[in-house]
Amino acid sequence: MIEFRYDRAADVGSALALMSPGAKYLAGGTNLVDLMRETVEAPRALVDVSQLSGAIEEQPDGGLRIGAGVKNTAVAAHPLVRARYPLLSRAILAGASAQIRNMASVGGNILQRTRCYYFYDVAARCNKRVPGSGCDAIDGFNRIHAILGASPDCVATHPSDMCVALAALDADVEIEGAGGKRSIRLTDLLRLPGGRPDIETELQPGELITAVIVPPLAFAANHSTYRKVRDRASYAFALVSVAAAIDLDGGTIRDVRIALGGVAHKPWRALAAEEALQGQAASPALFRAAAEAELRDAAPLRDNGFKVELAKRTIVAVLGELTGEAA
Ligand SMILES: Cc1cc2nc3c(=O)[nH]c(=O)nc-3n(C[C@H](O)[C@H](O)[C@H](O)COP(=O)(O)OP(=O)(O)OC[C@H]3O[C@@H](n4cnc5c(N)ncnc54)[C@H](O)[C@@H]3O)c2cc1C
Ligand code: SF4
Repeated sequence: MIEFRYDRAADVGSALALMSPGAKYLAGGTNLVDLMRETVEAPRALVDVSQLSGAIEEQPDGGLRIGAGVKNTAVAAHPLVRARYPLLSRAILAGASAQIRNMASVGGNILQRTRCYYFYDVAARCNKRVPGSGCDAIDGFNRIHAILGASPDCVATHPSDMCVALAALDADVEIEGAGGKRSIRLTDLLRLPGGRPDIETELQPGELITAVIVPPLAFAANHSTYRKVRDRASYAFALVSVAAAIDLDGGTIRDVRIALGGVAHKPWRALAAEEALQGQAASPALFRAAAEAELRDAAPLRDNGFKVELAKRTIVAVLGELTGEAA
């Protein structure tokens, strides 16, 4: 039996005070408890933060502050999220199952760990689980792995759907720790693997995510969506996903946001595609050129070359849907 201490935090202050070396925060437990059961994670103590920061508040600029403890179901169902950020609501509803979304929190969704099979198999070599041990995915079965931004040390993907929408929306993450409060762009909080795949975020030891700030993006209300391509219609992680919002002036693209899921170690903001689209007349040929630009540096592995074309086609299809310029 593996022993660990359990404490429930009443507020942010007590959560920080209860944190200690070797301890972990516990929110819905839908990922952490699984990992403890598989002995991938063995925290000495759990600080339960599931009672914290469960509010969704409108900001003076029209954006939203979503507490880290808000359940995924509550975010997806919130009237302001559905009205202003339909891509965020759709992304969350495309993930997991209703039961899991009822337990899963915003903070835990951001920090959920990769679904790489070898990471979960403690008999396999995995640099993320045991730094310096090697990576069995690189020469193994790597159908679900990364095609962008990977390294010779790790080719895992980030599994979250919610985070792909948040990346497209330029969301910031509020953090509190011993050094005080700070805020960081979600896409900067989550790291590419480089030579240290075990270091997945820019969080300092003991830091707590307290909220996500979604800035206003008026055109997302009517022209945004999330499309997830997966092996089964439900209850499966993305092979490739696309979150997009577009602002059209007549047939010309005034502004556009695109992020990809299932392709990299973190939600992948498609800046090259956005640049190719900006100020241009919307057309299927333009969408394909933008997708080609984004995937130019893709580096597929033995089993996941299909993701390159799949990502391109999904970008083209989503832009076609949002503009009425389908191929
Ligand atoms: C069968 C199954 C299918 C799934 N399918 C999908 C899917 O299709 N798409 C998808 O996006 N997700 C999917 N998920 C993952 C699910 O969304 C995550 O497990 C969930 O979002 C994690 O949230 P949680 O609150 O349960 O986190 P926990 O499991 O409690 O914690 C996860 C991690 O976050 C840390 N943490 C939690 N809160 C904080 C905080 N406030 N500050 C700092 N650290 C914190 C914990 O220490 C831990 O390391 C699936 C999960 C399962 C089990
Ligand atoms: S891809 Fe990353 S998570 Fe998977 S086995 Fe290799 S090092 Fe581990």
